[in-house]
Amino acid sequence: MRVIQSILIDGHWSSGSHEQQGAVFNPATGEQIASLGFASPADLDLALAAAARGFEVWRKTSAYERSKILRRAADLVRERSQAIAELITLEQGKPLAEAQMEAFGAGDHIDWYAEEGRRAYGRVIPPRQRGARQIVLREPIGPVAAFSPWNFPVSQLVRKIAGALAAGCSIIAKGPEETPSSCIELCRAFQDAGVPPGVLNLVFGVPAQISEYLIHSPVIRKISFTGSVPVGRALGALAGQQLKRCTLELGGHAPFIVCDDVDVEAVAALGAGLKFRNAGQICASPTRFFVQRSVYPQFVSAFSKAGAALRVGAGHLADSQMGPLANPRRVAAMQAYVDDALAVGATLAAGGRPSEAPGFYFAPTVLTDVPDNARVMHEEPFGPIASIVPFDDLQQVIDQANALPFGLAAFAFTRSIARATLLADELQSGMVSINHFGIAAPETPFGGIKDSGYGSEGGSEGLDAYLTTKFVSQVG
Ligand code: NAD
Repeated sequence: MRVIQSILIDGHWSSGSHEQQGAVFNPATGEQIASLGFASPADLDLALAAAARGFEVWRKTSAYERSKILRRAADLVRERSQAIAELITLEQGKPLAEAQMEAFGAGDHIDWYAEEGRRAYGRVIPPRQRGARQIVLREPIGPVAAFSPWNFPVSQLVRKIAGALAAGCSIIAKGPEETPSSCIELCRAFQDAGVPPGVLNLVFGVPAQISEYLIHSPVIRKISFTGSVPVGRALGALAGQQLKRCTLELGGHAPFIVCDDVDVEAVAALGAGLKFRNAGQICASPTRFFVQRSVYPQFVSAFSKAGAALRVGAGHLADSQMGPLANPRRVAAMQAYVDDALAVGATLAAGGRPSEAPGFYFAPTVLTDVPDNARVMHEEPFGPIASIVPFDDLQQVIDQANALPFGLAAFAFTRSIARATLLADELQSGMVSINHFGIAAPETPFGGIKDSGYGSEGGSEGLDAYLTTKFVSQVG
């Protein structure tokens, strides 16, 4: 079995020296396609020393020079995006067209940070004493430990790398063990663009071992994690014990509220497109569809038809519109959510079953009239299940939407300015998108509140996450 050279430390690639190796599967067939070298504690010590040295080099490199290197990396990623997309599809399963958008779009994220890094402005504060200068400087926080997940192997990782590097930080990134190859190619592009050795390091391994080791190290000054709420809670607690700053982008359970004054067919088509993108394995995926009662039957019918019509198949086949789930755990989880919802009184309007073909497939699934006590209404499904329920009163549905501890994304559809304003003001969510899908651009902040985490990636906030504030007061 081919062993992937997965570990980048101080500019050198290796397979790591851990006795254990990972197994990489093709989710479209269920077959193992490669083994993955894991980093041992000794490798992590080397990575930490490299990141400490790399930080000293990189923080002294001008923002202008850093920007030029990052822009070269953006160009290389775009040039190589077809090959990178094929690796995403092979290991993660999404249709090639979605993978191409992810790989090509990574260039946009890098470009954004390349520019924003040149604008890490401080400020000058008028002094009380004549002749004094009061200056606020923004400085890179230090070496970063970043942990990124498998659902968007490239776009989750690129935000962390580009944000840290644009700010002048070095980084040790732990990529997702399920989907390593596109992450490796992303890092190779940064390396080929001229990022000096030690500034960007990539490791894979036993996740809890790596995160504990890195977060405890005095070298690391900042933690960034994207993944589930329980793991985020654990890493946030570790970071807190060490008084280290932390950005946590965790799970969501996005409400999708449809008022009766919209083009119902169009909103249903948009909703189904959003729901089943990446087979629903998106933290901002709409999961709870609340539809005003008078348009409920029409919405359910249009949405279910759109779901049932999706062509499910291997991501590399040109006509596949939804690929397999990333791993068998997700398939088992989907079946359990469906069985539980039906047992407590929901109706199955589409899908509801895994495929009999090999691979980790689960049909696009629509559940209607789902009672509040169904698990899928309060646990993040992270898969291709839409739960649709009717509502009568807008304030009541806002309360229902806000009732969960999650607060990542929320979607609402109405032609009324008054309703749109109320929804934007009252939905407890880090991101509210009204009448379209308008989140996750490089220049806008992406992040949650409540159990969905804290801190943002993207926008000027994404750079701020890697900067500290130094106040200099000077006389003479
Ligand atoms: P998981 O929580 O076991 O893993 C999620 C990610 O975190 C993986 O990449 C994993 O390698 C990493 N991870 C796990 N334990 C870790 C640790 N102790 N230290 C550092 N990294 C660690 O869940 P899973 O079964 O792989 O995925 C399903 C769940 O993960 C979903 O329910 C969803 O909530 C969450 N998830 C969220 C996102 C997101 O974009 N926010 C992405 C992927 C997965």
